Amino acid sequence: MIKPEDIQALAKRSRGKCENPECNNQGQEIHHIYSKQQYNRADRDELWNLALLCIDCHKEGKYSIHARKPGTRKNPFLDIYLKTLADKLKPKELRSKDKAPILIRLAKIRHNIYKQKIDSYRAMHNGLTPSKVAYRKQKEYKKNLS
Ligand SMILES: [Zn+2]
Ligand SMILES: [Zn+2]
Repeated sequence: MIKPEDIQALAKRSRGKCENPECNNQGQEIHHIYSKQQYNRADRDELWNLALLCIDCHKEGKYSIHARKPGTRKNPFLDIYLKTLADKLKPKELRSKDKAPILIRLAKIRHNIYKQKIDSYRAMHNGLTPSKVAYRKQKEYKKNLS
């Protein structure tokens, strides 16, 4: 839940304007700089993780941060700009701690890639895992020796 005092502070910080430095529109919507997937903690709703954007820069425009509409494109520069801003605004005591969830997420991604590789390997080797195939080869090799 975003605290009302944080909404006020956000309006003050941005002077009511869209926080995209390339934009002069009024700020209309609150954007979470780090998304739930990237930052799954209660303090996601804290001021440092919030940005005020206009509707166009947020999701409606041709070049927006979410680009959910067909025919629109993501604006990766705005995303990086806001993340740099959030990292600066983030209280010091949080900076080192929040690396852990990111590392856990990376480990999960690597694990999923590994699992996919194993699955495609098994599909090509009668459902056998690489270690099983290696074991069988070794056994056969020994048999041929004797
Ligand atoms: Zn958003
Ligand atoms: Zn804007």
